[in-house]
Amino acid sequence: MSKPKDYSWMTKDKLMTYTFIALVILTVITAALWSVVTTPSGWNLGLTLGINAIIAVGLAVGIDVLLYKVTVDSPLNIMSAAVFGLIVTDCYTLGVPFMRTAELLPLEAPQSFLYVALMSVIGIVIFKKIAGISGRKYVNPAAAAKLVVMIPFINTLLIAIDHLKSSALGVPSLSGPIGMTTPIAGNGLAGFGTYVIGCFANPGITTPAITTNNLLQVMFLDKFHSWPGGASTIAVIVVGIAFFAVARRYVKWRITVSYLVAAAIMALLLSFAYGDADFTLRLLFTLFIGSSIFLAFFMATDPATTPITYLGQAIFGVGLAILTVLMQTYMQFFGASFIALIIMNLTSPALDKIGKLKPTTETKEPKLPKAKSFAPEKVKEYQCIRCGVCMRVCCHKLSPILIKKAFDKMDFDTLSKLNADYCTGCGHCSYVCPSRIDLKGSVLRAKAMLRQQ
Ligand code: SF4
Ligand code: SF4
Repeated sequence: MSKPKDYSWMTKDKLMTYTFIALVILTVITAALWSVVTTPSGWNLGLTLGINAIIAVGLAVGIDVLLYKVTVDSPLNIMSAAVFGLIVTDCYTLGVPFMRTAELLPLEAPQSFLYVALMSVIGIVIFKKIAGISGRKYVNPAAAAKLVVMIPFINTLLIAIDHLKSSALGVPSLSGPIGMTTPIAGNGLAGFGTYVIGCFANPGITTPAITTNNLLQVMFLDKFHSWPGGASTIAVIVVGIAFFAVARRYVKWRITVSYLVAAAIMALLLSFAYGDADFTLRLLFTLFIGSSIFLAFFMATDPATTPITYLGQAIFGVGLAILTVLMQTYMQFFGASFIALIIMNLTSPALDKIGKLKPTTETKEPKLPKAKSFAPEKVKEYQCIRCGVCMRVCCHKLSPILIKKAFDKMDFDTLSKLNADYCTGCGHCSYVCPSRIDLKGSVLRAKAMLRQQ
């Protein structure tokens, strides 16, 4: 019997399992909060969310298993499919805001079941499986699937001019001064605070008071409309930070930080430019609306579709914040962050080139994560998840994953530019890789090939 092998304790499956647990906690918290609401169509809002989750996860996992059985190219990734299903559930807008209208994406059951099912199927087949087989996923599958299912609602949601015209929907504009009771031109609302509290507070309270306490409760504790994953800001922050702490080496938390900092700066600048009566309203709304806070922690950090370098991640977060705030302000589409995410995902290949470490012949020993022994039959290789950790532990500051890709394509010029010949075979890259890719073997073979050249 062969001996067990030592690797870092983190595997791709573990990372997916932790993500899944975090998302389950958030979904359960929201379902519990929303269980006090019955929508006009007679469905309990918490139960609607629970059924949405079962539909989305069940379809995603079922399709993953089916494709694994009937095709040769589709690997089995049950945990990854389950995570995808929960992201779909948690970014599908639910609720009963006062501007409820048939023109908007259906916000209630039973229609929501159909749209969540469509998002799950489209996302897993087109944006996860087909994109994965082609070698790389370019856009966040849940965000892209949401965009596809929103196409029938393009007039009221996606086209700025139509959205702006539809002030009858009760969607106020952020492109002017706002305050708790500052009247909103052409909208008829007594103030942006009236909109925020009226739209996000418990719809069981017929006329919630427009007070700072109610605003804080809605923004921090319990929003009853919007993306379910972000219903409780406090829950997202606590669960998100706990998840980041456990998987800190493997999660791109720098995107979350740069997004939140840049979004806060944008909100303050707009507040100043428009002369808001009180800057905190715009700041709280920009940072803690469900689509922003959930996206910042659990969608913008998707490793497969975001930049691999630290600097690339910081620029990605800033770009995402700027686009999100601009769309919220000038399109009146407050859940537009997922479109900003798709746009920024498309910049990832360019951002990957920014901030790469400069290879060196000097040796610098990195701090490695804890080791764990794995029986050889338990060491299963997966597709690269683009966490970038192999690039951070190389004692010669090489980019092992980029060298492997260039080697697979027999691209000598790139191999030479990436200084593959500096590799001394320490094996740190293979040790830390959660996908268990034999990076050391590829880099050493690339080095030998360069020497022969
Ligand atoms: S094996 Fe080579 S590429 Fe991998 S970490 Fe060590 S020196 Fe870097
Ligand atoms: S090859 Fe590198 S970037 Fe890809 S999963 Fe492994 S450690 Fe992460």
